Amino acid sequence: MRVGIIGGGLMGMALARRYASDGHEVTVVEYANQPGGLATWSDFGGFTWDRFYHVILPSDQQLIGFLNDVGIADELEWNRTYTGFYVDEKLHSISSNVEFLKFPLLSFFSKIRLGFTMLYASRINSWKPLEKITCEEWLRKVSGNENVEKLWKPLLLAKLGPSYSRVSAVFIWSYIKRMFSARDKSASAEHLGHVRGGYKSIFKEIEQQIKQSGGDVLLNETVMRVSANDDGVSVHTPQKSYLFDQVVCTSPTNVLENIVDKNLLSVGHSTGSVEYLGVVCVVLVTKRPITRFYVVNIADETIPFTGVIGMSNVINTKNTAGNHLTYLPRYLLSTDPEIEKPDSHFRETFLEGVKRMFPDFNDSDILSVHVHRAVKVQPLQVLDYSSMVPSVETNDPRLHVLNTSQFVNATLNNNEVIGAVNRFYNDVASANA
Ligand SMILES: Cc1cc2nc3c(=O)[nH]c(=O)nc-3n(C[C@H](O)[C@H](O)[C@H](O)COP(=O)(O)OP(=O)(O)OC[C@H]3O[C@@H](n4cnc5c(N)ncnc54)[C@H](O)[C@@H]3O)c2cc1C
Repeated sequence: MRVGIIGGGLMGMALARRYASDGHEVTVVEYANQPGGLATWSDFGGFTWDRFYHVILPSDQQLIGFLNDVGIADELEWNRTYTGFYVDEKLHSISSNVEFLKFPLLSFFSKIRLGFTMLYASRINSWKPLEKITCEEWLRKVSGNENVEKLWKPLLLAKLGPSYSRVSAVFIWSYIKRMFSARDKSASAEHLGHVRGGYKSIFKEIEQQIKQSGGDVLLNETVMRVSANDDGVSVHTPQKSYLFDQVVCTSPTNVLENIVDKNLLSVGHSTGSVEYLGVVCVVLVTKRPITRFYVVNIADETIPFTGVIGMSNVINTKNTAGNHLTYLPRYLLSTDPEIEKPDSHFRETFLEGVKRMFPDFNDSDILSVHVHRAVKVQPLQVLDYSSMVPSVETNDPRLHVLNTSQFVNATLNNNEVIGAVNRFYNDVASANA
């Protein structure tokens, strides 16, 4: 069977690999000049690494299972990681139970309530009622005001930017469920993983396997139109039209609305009502580490970025030509004009922020500064978000939609992506094969 996959992010590439390994003739059509989408890589001068920071959690069982299937699970490395908090111009480590108990900014009672919040959230299975209340309101009720002000707000700002105040409690519930399972229960310590060589080595391996099975990954080809007739489903790019027996679209629903012929797609209601979060991420390559933490959450709204991600504290510097890699993200609404400000603006203001947080940081340590942006990263999961997600149905059994726009009760992560690919392949794809 000839299968076309629109989009060469992890969703499209992982799905293409499954089709290819079952003997189908698969073609991925990707707009960019390399596969990977949001998980793609960048050249940092002397080495390449993920354009945006990515880590693997011990609880990412579907993703780890996928790496096993691909045959690169041996390349997975785990490291003990540390979490910091920047409050009142001071850095605090809260990376172990002992440090947490010593954390000076929370009362003993708040610490007990925080432990209760984790336990309580991890036992909730029915997420629908959480859509009716904001994260902040829910956390104030369950965790108390002190925990919200000192701990949760910085964390929400780091993950969502200032729009966190409109996000429903489903976000924090799914975050707690996923993130806190990263702690090794026996050691009470957090461990995070990565594949040697970063996501580039994952994508290169998948691409090679697709090609070895007779498939193809077409790059620099933007799908402008999808149409169908008795012969099959056609995918049109400015270069060429490709005819397939089955097509799966992994690009976001708002893109599909523009490219798929109207008679083939029913979108429940307009995607216009869904707001998206974007991210601007300044990446510093330095001679010395800036921080010993994997993540520093920031409770100081005068710092222009929403977190500090010390990637070299997860990955061995053998991966980065002996240099240190630090990501400084700032999440913004995709419609916020700030996201379009010139790179020089982010470079200057973020560097000034780093110097305030880390007085030992010195300009002479900087090897290079990179400004990366993704305008539409994920929908803002506001109150009643699941009722706003445009339901997408195709009117042709040969055309399918599989994308992260449909995630309603999970944070955006690659474990969920692989889970969605596996479910789709087992339920839909194999039935059509
Ligand atoms: C800052 C940041 C940090 C993250 N950290 C983590 C992490 O630590 N752990 C984790 O598990 N996940 C993380 N993620 C999430 C992870 O990146 C996503 O889950 C994953 O990349 C989604 O893959 P996808 O294939 O669904 O979508 P995408 O990566 O968006 O891929 C869609 C692809 O479709 C292509 N496309 C779109 N329209 C067209 C068209 N018309 N024609 C052809 N091609 C088209 C795009 O170019 C793109 O390559 C992070 C994301 C960001 C932004």
